[in-house]
Amino acid sequence: MPIYEYHCNDCNADFEQLVFSSSQADRVPCSKCGSTNVERKVSSVASAGASSASSAAAAYSSCGSSGFS
Ligand SMILES: [Zn+2]
Repeated sequence: MPIYEYHCNDCNADFEQLVFSSSQADRVPCSKCGSTNVERKVSSVASAGASSASSAAAAYSSCGSSGFS
């Protein structure tokens, strides 16, 4: 599940939105004013790989701790 960054052209707010599908990514409303006049920023490609690696490590450690308890 990628998190996209958006910029609202109506109130100039920057916000992040968790997007489950590419069709949903094109119709995300502004978190402040609700406008759909927003632009999606392209910046989450590099962080996606890093976050998946860290979440895998977290899943491993939680699995290990539950095994000991
Ligand atoms: Zn807005």
